[in-house]
Amino acid sequence: MHVPTRNELWTKVQQLLQKNLSKPSYETWIRPAEFFDFKDGCLTLLAPNSFSSDWLRKNYSQTIEEIASEIFGKNVKVYIKVKEEFSSNTSKKKKTFSNVENNSIVGRDNAEVRSNQVPVKKFLPGLNLRYVFNRFVVGPNSRMAHAAAMAVAESPGREFNPLFICGGVGLGKTHLMQSIGHYRLEIDPDAKVAYVSTETFTNDLIVAIRKDGMQAFRNRYREADLILVDDIQFIEGKEYTQEEFFHTFNALHEAGRQIVLTSDRPPSQIPRLQERLISRFSMGLIADIQAPDLETRMAILQKKAEHERMRLPRDLIQFIAGRFTSNIRELEGAFTRAVAFASITGLPMTVESVAPMLDPTGQGVEVKPKQVLEKVAEVFGVTEEEMRSPSRRRPVSQARQVGMYLMRHGTDLSLPRIGESFGGKDHTTVMYAIEQVEKKLSSEPQLASQVQKVKDLLQIDSRKRR
Ligand code: ADP
Ligand code: MG
Repeated sequence: MHVPTRNELWTKVQQLLQKNLSKPSYETWIRPAEFFDFKDGCLTLLAPNSFSSDWLRKNYSQTIEEIASEIFGKNVKVYIKVKEEFSSNTSKKKKTFSNVENNSIVGRDNAEVRSNQVPVKKFLPGLNLRYVFNRFVVGPNSRMAHAAAMAVAESPGREFNPLFICGGVGLGKTHLMQSIGHYRLEIDPDAKVAYVSTETFTNDLIVAIRKDGMQAFRNRYREADLILVDDIQFIEGKEYTQEEFFHTFNALHEAGRQIVLTSDRPPSQIPRLQERLISRFSMGLIADIQAPDLETRMAILQKKAEHERMRLPRDLIQFIAGRFTSNIRELEGAFTRAVAFASITGLPMTVESVAPMLDPTGQGVEVKPKQVLEKVAEVFGVTEEEMRSPSRRRPVSQARQVGMYLMRHGTDLSLPRIGESFGGKDHTTVMYAIEQVEKKLSSEPQLASQVQKVKDLLQIDSRKRR
């Protein structure tokens, strides 16, 4: 068999994929991926941005592996890297990751950090390259935490020690904390920065105890100039970890090293946390991050779009930001889905085309009770009459419950009105049905997939009606 040369392999894979994928999918994801290397059965590709590399990894790497293995005649493993990050990490190219960052914020100084940071030289394994100050959008919700984080990176061990950052899930605590680490290393490449999750700290401790490696454990953690401990709330109730952490904390603090902690709540509200730790954690600065307001959420999406080199119309940004209010991770997820959806379907990036994707049951997108009945009947193999009848046959009652659930989440109908759509059922019956479905969704995958199918059908339907 002819063994293809390095480039040929990727070209062949591309050709095959081109035949088998829709044009938009191919053009969006496969064509832009560049060949980088093929050796020892490992094919490395470079994606133009992190979004596209995630997408390729999730959706295409297996297919690419299969096809490549087929062509090559032996198993091929595929690695997908981000072009920029990869080159800044490995080569001498001048245009590094953080140069790009600096350029991209010029002229936008309202909610941004103006950066005078030099290109990142040193990376600490374990720190996410994206979690830098340049990519953190500052709003009224995070101004203080952000200012404190900068101060701590610039002069560690001085004013705010420890710096305790608290806030809800997905609000940027880890991002801010890691930014401190990156920035510290930019200022002082020799700084000893340690980043650990509380879980890792606990696990390391357990291993140390088991292997009698306490000294090594202590040296490792007590040597740091700057220690970042993420999600300290998980120390709750772990007596021995708390004990050891107390000593680590004291050793570092006394030596004037900087400690930064994050938690989903302030120290005094962490249950089963020793008094003495509460008081240690509270002796520096407690800075909280609140949920961002609409403007800040829009700025976050805008910045993300810039980084992914995508142009999104302002009303679309506003639309997405208006829908995901309390968790930035979810906000970003919605953005990603919107972009993916548009590029796969080939539809333009507009509120119109993307809305159903973000709201499959139709919040904000109109879904009629009639459609819900129709699609549920179709997926569950019962008739609409049966759902309206008093029948208690299991498939019928199951379908009815799902119908009620979807109407609740997809239409503006009140509980009594939903009851009426099902032949005059009582509103308590409707309430019970909704609860049942909510409960079962997590434990019955088959039901969950049927519900998803109905949602998909409703989504397609509402798109057709536009
Ligand atoms: P937490 O640790 O509080 O749960 P993360 O720091 O993991 O949250 O943030 C979740 C996601 O949201 C990350 O991808 C992060 O980059 C992003 N993010 C959070 N806050 C901001 C912000 N102010 N600006 C830009 N991105 C943010
Ligand atoms: Mg976190």
